[in-house]
Amino acid sequence: MDKYFSKSTEEMLTKFNVTKNGLTDASVEEQRQKYGFNELVEKETDGVVKVFFSQFKDLLVVILLIAAAISAISGNLESTLVIAAVLILNAILGTVQHFKAEQSLNSLRALSSPKAKIIRNGHKQEVPSKEVVPGDILLLEAGDFVVADGRIIENFSLQINESSLTGESEAVLKTAETINEAELALGDQKNMVFSGSLVTYGRAMVLVTSIGMETEIGKIASLLHNTKEKKTPLQINLDNFSKKLAIGIMIICVVVFALNMFRGAKPLDALMFAVALAVAAIPEALSSIVTIVLALGTQKMANENAIIRQLKAVEGLGCVSVICSDKTGTLTQNKMTVKNLYVDSTNIPEDKINLSSPIQDLLIKMSVLCNDSTSKDGKEIGDPTEVALVNVARKYSLNELEVRSTYKRLAEIPFDSDRKLMSTLHNINGEVLMVTKGAVDVLLPRLTHIHTSNGLLEINDQYKKDIEEANKNFSSNGLRVLAFAYRKLDAARELSLEDENNFVFLGLISMIDPPREESAEAVKACIKAGIKPIMITGDHKITASAIAKQIGILDENGRSVEGLELDKMSDEELKQQISNISVYARVSPEHKIRIVKAWQDRGNIVAMTGDGVNDAPALKQANIGISMGITGTEVAKDASALILTDDNFATIVKAVSNGRNIYTNIKNSIKFLLSGNTAGIFAVVYAALVGLPMPFAAVHLLFINLLTDSLPAIAIGFESSLKDVLKDKPRKSDESIMTKSFLQEMFIEGFLIFFGTMAAFYIGYKTGDTAIASTMAFATLCLSRLFHGFNCRGDESVFRLGLFSNKYSWYAFGLGLVFLNSVLLIPGLSGLFQIAKLTVTQFASIYGLAVIPLIVIQTYKVLVADRK
Ligand code: ATP
Repeated sequence: MDKYFSKSTEEMLTKFNVTKNGLTDASVEEQRQKYGFNELVEKETDGVVKVFFSQFKDLLVVILLIAAAISAISGNLESTLVIAAVLILNAILGTVQHFKAEQSLNSLRALSSPKAKIIRNGHKQEVPSKEVVPGDILLLEAGDFVVADGRIIENFSLQINESSLTGESEAVLKTAETINEAELALGDQKNMVFSGSLVTYGRAMVLVTSIGMETEIGKIASLLHNTKEKKTPLQINLDNFSKKLAIGIMIICVVVFALNMFRGAKPLDALMFAVALAVAAIPEALSSIVTIVLALGTQKMANENAIIRQLKAVEGLGCVSVICSDKTGTLTQNKMTVKNLYVDSTNIPEDKINLSSPIQDLLIKMSVLCNDSTSKDGKEIGDPTEVALVNVARKYSLNELEVRSTYKRLAEIPFDSDRKLMSTLHNINGEVLMVTKGAVDVLLPRLTHIHTSNGLLEINDQYKKDIEEANKNFSSNGLRVLAFAYRKLDAARELSLEDENNFVFLGLISMIDPPREESAEAVKACIKAGIKPIMITGDHKITASAIAKQIGILDENGRSVEGLELDKMSDEELKQQISNISVYARVSPEHKIRIVKAWQDRGNIVAMTGDGVNDAPALKQANIGISMGITGTEVAKDASALILTDDNFATIVKAVSNGRNIYTNIKNSIKFLLSGNTAGIFAVVYAALVGLPMPFAAVHLLFINLLTDSLPAIAIGFESSLKDVLKDKPRKSDESIMTKSFLQEMFIEGFLIFFGTMAAFYIGYKTGDTAIASTMAFATLCLSRLFHGFNCRGDESVFRLGLFSNKYSWYAFGLGLVFLNSVLLIPGLSGLFQIAKLTVTQFASIYGLAVIPLIVIQTYKVLVADRK
């Protein structure tokens, strides 16, 4: 291994033939040819053959295999062949669907794949991490994942968590210095960074030394991310349901078999009866349909700016009862504009700034020195709070880059939202000054002097009171306030947190960040939907409350609480009081975890937004962690279940509404499938009880369950909700899909279909030909289930839902008709499916009987459901 840690930064740059301006496009191309893409080769995914055979592991499929075997023994070889063919077809479909689902998850994952900030051709740019090559100059800051191994060439208090490699959970303080050692363990290579670790603090410029499988993490294959998607609670529930169903079916099969034997039927005939029953009852397509509907839902959500990272979030969204949201950028626009200065005990509106006043000039200069943002070609780069400061300076003809090159930065302590301060060190007019900006309440207790037009004065209570008063005035108008202070040091040196004390107060700058236009509307929708919206912010309590009032989060009954007050509350007290608290101000990420837990302890399902590196634990603790696509750190995105590509609160509310709708669609699809099966079960059990011949062949039921029934079930997944889904209260997370009303409807609807089916059977039976009877029963069952697809589109009648509002329901019906009529009419197929030739009158009776459930159910809906 190359010992990059023992080389100087100059040696490193020469070795990789690059400068701090980065590689040129041509050299990137060269490196790419040589080293390929920066990717870890994931563990082999299951191959096609394995996936194909795994489709047969299902207990229900095993029952069908037994059915095929019994058919063969009873001499019904055609039936065996068809069952086998259908099973193979089903396995092929399952395999295709497995890879399709994997593909769609991969493309969702690609949408949220990590990005890297690099310098190429002298410009800073963001590229997918996959495109980084050795020799690239990588820029790291708090919240970034390190995407390649590299040598640090410039360091600003960089701290890295390398636990994924070394197991050490404490962050490591890094350096750019050369280390003159012959051998060093990874954890001691303090001037190197390694792929897969994360930046917890500070920033650095890094020369990429290796990528992809050549990185340290690439060499330890066992640590590779396991990207397998776990099943969602609903899928697990359905799996359990299927298992119970299978056992139930076997019991009924035994009973039916015994009943037939008791009647003196031949054992094989009795067995065939039991087989038909099993086939009628097994909802073969159920789990694939649920996966398809979930996948359709994630696509719709991605188009509406919400990228699902964990499938379970789709259904979880429907249960959300509390949304905890950041303020800045999520509820507000994150477009900061400076409104006022406060210097020398005077309030100065932004348009009255006068740089010939030395104190104002100093404040504006310091505001761009203790600042990392800039704007280039009209494009603002950096933290909006800092961009606002740059914009004011520019308005008064001070270019931040010129000021920064006159008073070079000698050292810095970066901003972090726990400390709420940022400090930089400069040589200003012969003095070494540490400039600090940050939250007023954090700086105020650390002041010793105040800068006035009469020189430096010792600070006294009156001055402090005046500053607090000015701060309060700005904040109560919803303005964000930054305080500026400085301190003289003896000489230039590295800064430490202890230096952030004994300050000279210079002034305040207030800025406005208006609420997003859609926030108030979204908050209203939330409240109507029984969801409590909560603001959690690092900003000042008064500012936060003012904004929260404007958008409706805080009303006269709600409370605002500060982080410090939270510290004084026990978890139990917080749990008691939490329902009244709508705004949390000056909080740190640890508070967020307590807030989430307290709500969860009260039985709530909590969605929580976060963007910073320290937000990851709270995002994981929340039921639905939501990260910001634009301003969020890679770490936060990685910990979240949902990414908002527009950082917008209103998108969360839309996602909740989609989540509820998807769940309803899944429920309706399941009801459709199970009510149809219920009809089949009723028919077989009825025939067994009254001693009729078997109403269907097993292949009939397979044809319906696997083919024609799937079509309307998928079409229901496309249903976009007519009724305002946000009108209802959130669903309970432990609510079973099979509620009492679900089961009632399933049985009644199943009974109606059964009724038509048996009527058709009797009409056919009267001819004395059981083949005609069973053909008629099969056709009626199949057709009425196709009609029934319209019934299951929603609670309301199709007229209310819009007869043509879901075109897929018509495609499904049309295609189903084509399939059914093909087996009824095409001679080759009729043989395989045991179809008898029917007369026109018999055809007419089938259509007449099959449409009855549709008419009855729709009439009921028009008369009762539509009026609710
Ligand atoms: P949220 O996004 O959670 O609503 P926020 O963006 O308002 O929060 P932070 O960014 O954590 O919260 O800022 C907290 C406080 O730190 C601000 O109120 C401000 O006083 C101060 N602050 C914000 N940005 C900077 C900065 N770049 N430099 C110095 N201080 C800052």
